[in-house]
Amino acid sequence: MTAQFVAKISGYCAEQNLCYLAVHCHGGTDKVCFSTDDIASHERGYPALLDITRGGPVGALVFAKNAVAGDIWTSSGRFQLHHMTIIGSHIRQLYPSPEAKVCATNPMYDRHARLFGDVGQEIFANLKVGIIGLGGGGSLINEWLSRLGVGHIVAIDFDRVDLTNLPRIVGATHRDAMTWLIKQSIPWLQKLGKQLATHKVHVARRVAKQANPSICYDAVVGNIVDEAIARLLVDADFLFLAADSMQSRLVFNALVHQYLIPGVQIGAKVSVNKQTKQISDIFTTTRPVLPYANGGCLHCHELIPAGRLQQEALSEKEQRTQRYVEDEDIAQPSVITLNVKSAEQAVNDFMMMFTGLYPAEFQLCHQFRFARERSIINVEPRANNDCLDCSNISRSRRARGDRSRLPCRMSSLARLIPVRASFFQ
Ligand SMILES: [Zn+2]
Ligand SMILES: [Zn+2]
Repeated sequence: MTAQFVAKISGYCAEQNLCYLAVHCHGGTDKVCFSTDDIASHERGYPALLDITRGGPVGALVFAKNAVAGDIWTSSGRFQLHHMTIIGSHIRQLYPSPEAKVCATNPMYDRHARLFGDVGQEIFANLKVGIIGLGGGGSLINEWLSRLGVGHIVAIDFDRVDLTNLPRIVGATHRDAMTWLIKQSIPWLQKLGKQLATHKVHVARRVAKQANPSICYDAVVGNIVDEAIARLLVDADFLFLAADSMQSRLVFNALVHQYLIPGVQIGAKVSVNKQTKQISDIFTTTRPVLPYANGGCLHCHELIPAGRLQQEALSEKEQRTQRYVEDEDIAQPSVITLNVKSAEQAVNDFMMMFTGLYPAEFQLCHQFRFARERSIINVEPRANNDCLDCSNISRSRRARGDRSRLPCRMSSLARLIPVRASFFQ
């Protein structure tokens, strides 16, 4: 590459807030490394490119068949690429050379290993997975991921368990809901009960630790709409969105595309006929979102309408709307067996994607399941060429990582302080 070419491209990267990565190929299979000439040219050129691109990262990737090595320069230092993740219906990782043999799996996972091998189990053990919303659907996902052997879960919810949650939240007890206080006739005792009830994320942590005592668990009492909370997920391997507010959809969709993290959104709805007041449809949704055009972007599917976003922002009741979308014609009953329908498909998608059980290039459509008809409908993928999340236009956040801002509100300091454990923990 001529100096002129490098100058032109790095200037473009600076202008567009992009990273500069030079990619080339060496021969061979399963193993690759830079030549001494490659390294010498990086050391000559990259300090200057870091300046030109205002902090980069800049760097180089070299491929062989089934392997990749990388030399990445950032303003805080120089790093060797550990692995690269390829996102799609089969999520897989490439390394500079074959990873050391995995150690024999815990015999507890014998039946898992018969499906996806010790390697599959090892993959789960090394994943960091975010769950946004630990209500009915999220609590199921939490239990299943823990039993699946996922090594690290970040659970985010600001809410506490209340009496009406008990039929749905896995592991929640009357003690968590402070039922004995809530049922007192004296208002201040009821209020005290609500204040002392366990946070949903702490119930979830308890359930996860029971399933897998060695799990690394971050129980975060907070709102994904706050930047400091959303940033806890930028290095996650997968995201589950089980909180149904438009603002949480907005941040989730941004995280997926800006940081290239595959995810899935779940929900359950019961729609009521306005005239007859009769229940018309009972349906659940499972919406995989992969960070590329036609990957299921929630914006392109018109699932984050601007009007609804504004409504939420104005109402100053975000804390409530994160749980329930208020809509004139949609009442919000909630039953554990319906939550299972959307959550089950989401966690199976996750499991199949990471263990290679889906064929490559398999289209993971958004799915509706109509409970009364026992039918499943797949939604055709959609992509707008000018989408600000999933397209490649210069204003799009796609793949920009830390070089773009998440659509969050600024955090107040109070929300950054780790929240004290709740009363009975
Ligand atoms: Zn080379
Ligand atoms: Zn889009």
